[in-house]
Amino acid sequence: MGRTSTTKAWKFTKKRPRIRATSVPRTKPQRSLFTAGRYWRTVLRNMAKPDLDKIAAHYSGILKELGADLDSEGLKETPLRAAKALLEMTEGSRMETDQLTKMFRAECKTAICHDMVIVEGINEVGLCEHHLLPITMNITIAYIPDKKILGLSKLSRIAGYFARRLQNQERTAHLIAAFMEQIVEPLGVAVLIDGKHMCAMARGVRDTHSVMKVNVMHGAFQKDQNLRNELLARLSAA
Ligand code: ZN
Repeated sequence: MGRTSTTKAWKFTKKRPRIRATSVPRTKPQRSLFTAGRYWRTVLRNMAKPDLDKIAAHYSGILKELGADLDSEGLKETPLRAAKALLEMTEGSRMETDQLTKMFRAECKTAICHDMVIVEGINEVGLCEHHLLPITMNITIAYIPDKKILGLSKLSRIAGYFARRLQNQERTAHLIAAFMEQIVEPLGVAVLIDGKHMCAMARGVRDTHSVMKVNVMHGAFQKDQNLRNELLARLSAA
């Protein structure tokens, strides 16, 4: 039985790498379904990856237009460094949502009660899609389990996937809430984000103190005022 399934997986992985030879990872796929899945996730990710050198060349153009000396010691590696930073700050958008759903569904455990779970203080940095400047975010995720629960570190990882992309804060909160509903199928979920926007701090109004707060409440949190109050009271008490 085991033998049949591993043989199938091996045939599957051997068939396809010709799609784009340069982007296929060099690691040889192992003969198991699990690693075959991981192998193909890597292939998909590599295929979707933007070209680092092209982005660096664009950054060089911008710096030249600003009159910067790209031969100076401080700036000669800057285009490449900036390109790497941009890719890192948008890496969440290159994860396949279907793959994420499968991955996190597998991490769920069985719930033993319906008590509210709150995870506070998830710090993430996203990139404002209007100005390409960072938004530093303090994220809270709360949910009321029905049949499933998800561990603390998984919630931080989910927040990271949706924060690290070109975004606006409201959409990020909604995406996290919708994803939690899909994975955990809770009775209710709430996502609260306090964001400091560099585009408001460093340009325009140059307001270094304002914090944008977004509260998204779904399910029981939306319907039941008491639950909402309990959540908000516990947050302010922290
Ligand atoms: Zn902005």
